[in-house]
Amino acid sequence: MTHLSDAQQPASPHRTDLGDLSPEEFERHAHTLARWIADYLATPERYPVLSRLAPGEFGRGLPTAMPARAESLDTIIADLDRVIMPGVTHWNHPGFFAYFANTASVPGILSELVIAALNQVGILWRASPALSELETVTVAWLRDAMGLPADWFGMITDTASVSTLQALAAARERDPALEIRRRGMAGRADLPRLRVYCSEHAHSSVDKAVITLGLGAENVVRLPADAEHRMRVDALTAAVAADRAAGHRPLAVVATVGTTSTTSVDPVPAIADVCEREGMWLHVDAAYAGVLAMVPEHRMHFAGVERADSFVVNPHKWLFLPMDCSVFWTRHPKVLKRTFSLTPAYLETDEQEVALSQSDYSFQLGRRFRALKLWFVLRAFGLEGLVERLRYHCVMARDLAASVRAEPGWEVLAPVPMSVVCFRHRPPGLANDEAALARHNAAILDRVNATGKVFLSHTKLGERYVLRMAIGNLRTQESHVAQAWELLRAAATV
Ligand SMILES: *Cc1c(COP(=O)(O)O)cnc(C)c1O
Repeated sequence: MTHLSDAQQPASPHRTDLGDLSPEEFERHAHTLARWIADYLATPERYPVLSRLAPGEFGRGLPTAMPARAESLDTIIADLDRVIMPGVTHWNHPGFFAYFANTASVPGILSELVIAALNQVGILWRASPALSELETVTVAWLRDAMGLPADWFGMITDTASVSTLQALAAARERDPALEIRRRGMAGRADLPRLRVYCSEHAHSSVDKAVITLGLGAENVVRLPADAEHRMRVDALTAAVAADRAAGHRPLAVVATVGTTSTTSVDPVPAIADVCEREGMWLHVDAAYAGVLAMVPEHRMHFAGVERADSFVVNPHKWLFLPMDCSVFWTRHPKVLKRTFSLTPAYLETDEQEVALSQSDYSFQLGRRFRALKLWFVLRAFGLEGLVERLRYHCVMARDLAASVRAEPGWEVLAPVPMSVVCFRHRPPGLANDEAALARHNAAILDRVNATGKVFLSHTKLGERYVLRMAIGNLRTQESHVAQAWELLRAAATV
C-alpha cells in the first residue's frame, strides 16, 4: 500500500454532516419504534409462532449489495414489517412451547435500549465501574435468592455453553502440575487422557467445551440414566474406576439439574460424594431450571448443589431477560483467575489489586453491560413476582400432564418436576410399533405447528419419539395451554 504525501491528503474537512444522526432524530424514531414494539407485544398472536419461510427464502428477498447512499430511518423502520417479520419465529408468542422459553419482558427490552446507548465496554474496572460492580452485585442478589452459598464468586457470560467452557477450563487448571496453560497438551507423553463425565441426557455444550479445550471428544464419557432419566451413579463410579485402571485422569463431572429433554435432575449429592472422593471438579448445569431454586417448594431439586465447584443458570431462559445472559458461579475464583488472567501492559492500572475486572476471570476481554438488564428485571418483578410467575408455569405444566394422563390413547412419558411435559399419542392400533408411533407423533407435531397458533418441539427417549411442551413464556396463560392441547387432540384424530 502506498501512502499519500501530506500534499495529497484531502484538506481538513470541517464538515458537520459526517457525524451521527441528531438526538432529535433519535427521539422521533424512538417514539415510532416504541409504538411499533408496544403494538407487537400487545398482539403477537397475529403472527404464526413458527416462521413459514423455507430455507434461503428470506435471504433471496434481500438486495445483494449494501446501499450506496444513506437510507432514511423511516424507510428502514417501515421495512421491519415487510422484510423482517416474515422471517421471525416468535419467541415472545404465548403459544411458544418449543425448546425452552425465552421471553423478552418489558423491563428487559427497555434495559437493552439503555445498554446500547451507554455502550459500556467492560474491559477492566475503570472502563466502566458501574458495569463491573453492578455485575458483582446483581449476580450476588440472584445467588442469594436461589439459596446458593454466599462465598460463591459469580459473573455473567453470554450463554451456558460459554459458562460450561469456563468451568471445564478451570477444572483443567485446578491441578497446576498438569501445566497445560503453559505447555499445552499436544506432544506430551507425560499427560494422561483427561476424562469428563456426564449423563446421556447432558447438553451438547459439554461435548463442545471438551472439543474446544482440546481434550478430545472421545474423552466425554456419557453415562446411562435410570428410568427417570437421571445419571446412574453406579455407572459413574464404575466408569471412573475403569478409567483409573486404564491410566486416565478423571477430571470433571457435569451434573444437570433440569435436563433439556425432560427436566430430570441428576442425583447431585451422590455425584458430589464421588467427585470429592476422586478429586474431580463438579460442574452443575442448571441452565434452564436454576431459577426455580428461588421457589421454596422447588428447592429440593437443588439438594447438594452447594457442594459444586461451579454452577450455571441462564436468566435469558426462564427469568424473562432477552437474549443473552448466562450466570456462572464458582467457589474457586483463584483457579478461574489463574486460568484466564493475562494483563497486557496497556491495561495495567494502579487499582488492579483492589478493583475487580471480570476480564481477569473469563476468556473474553470486552463485555457488554448485561448486568443492567438483570438489574432492571430483578427490580421490576421483585423476588415475589418472579416466584409467582415460575410457580404459575409449573402449575400449568402439572395440569396439562393431568389432562394428558386422563385422555384415552395419550400418555405422559416422563415425570413433570418443573414446567416441561413429555408425552405422546399412542392409539391402540399402533400400540407397540415404535417406528409407526414416531411417524404418527411427528405428523401430529407438524400439523399443530402448521396452524401457526403454537410451536412445540420433540425429543427422543431411547427408541421413543416424544412430543415436548415447555411452558415458560411470560405471556402464556392457561387458555394458551388449553388451546395447544385441543389442537394436539384434533391433530391426532385426522
Ligand atoms: C439451554 C441449555 C444449555 C445451552 O444454553 P446456551 O445458553 O444456549 O448455551 C445448556 N444446558 C442446558 C441444560 C440447557 O437447558
